Amino acid sequence: MIQKINNRIYIFFTEEGYGKSNAVLIDDDIRVMIDSGAGKITEQARPEDVDILINSHCHLDHVWDNDLFVNARIVTHPLEQENFRDHKKIAPIENWEKYMQGEDPAQQFVHLKPSFLEEWRVDGTIDEGDIINTGKTKIYVMHMPGHTSGHLTFFFPDEGLLFCGDICLTKVGPWYGDNSTPLDYFIASINRIIDMKPDKVVSGHNKEVLTTPHIREAFSEYRERIYKRDKRILAALRKRHCTIDELAAKKLIYPAHPNIFVIYWEKAMIAKHLDRLMKNNEVAVDDKGMYYAT
Ligand SMILES: [Zn+2]
Repeated sequence: MIQKINNRIYIFFTEEGYGKSNAVLIDDDIRVMIDSGAGKITEQARPEDVDILINSHCHLDHVWDNDLFVNARIVTHPLEQENFRDHKKIAPIENWEKYMQGEDPAQQFVHLKPSFLEEWRVDGTIDEGDIINTGKTKIYVMHMPGHTSGHLTFFFPDEGLLFCGDICLTKVGPWYGDNSTPLDYFIASINRIIDMKPDKVVSGHNKEVLTTPHIREAFSEYRERIYKRDKRILAALRKRHCTIDELAAKKLIYPAHPNIFVIYWEKAMIAKHLDRLMKNNEVAVDDKGMYYAT
């Protein structure tokens, strides 16, 4: 479904589930698309006539159809430009060897997207503070790390609209299984959105344009899930010392583990919580990799 915000801004709500993502078309003097993962409906943006394709971050579900934008300059945050050089970060399975046995499943992605292992073109970078003027529309670029290191969100000041990428607001979020970004960064990014009080919010995966007064409540509840995960991990460690694998088997983040990716994410994200809890002196680890509450 494509929803019109005004005569120039269109939200492409994907109809293809979690493997794809929402996108935004700014059909102005300069035609800009934010993310290319909306699936079949991306064709309706006329990708060959788009001048600038912005990627909020490097994950496959947001960059899926980058190669349709043959005439566009493709831009992202400098840290994401780096991430694009590592296919495991695009997947995202960058810590696979650390937490899982056996070969990483990169080949599975090649079956879905044959060009997956080829080089991903990035032509330039944008960063916090940049203002993209497309003619009658202004887009403020905001760096909000946490989901990935260079994760970007976009504020349209004249419309009061924030596109917040994978600060996703879906019932399975938030996701922070990347390698390099402390969990506190994700919390800071959520706090920043709450403080900026946008009038309208669309994420990369929710199904509607969220409006005030629901925005503050939605982000507060979303942030609270991180604290609840902290508490569940701490409670488990108060009962007995555990490795990351043992904690993951308790399904403290995802109540079901339907495939190996979810098992992997559970481990990578528990590791983020443990880092945070250790920094706060609530948890420690012994030389055998057993974590315990202090
Ligand atoms: Zn993502």
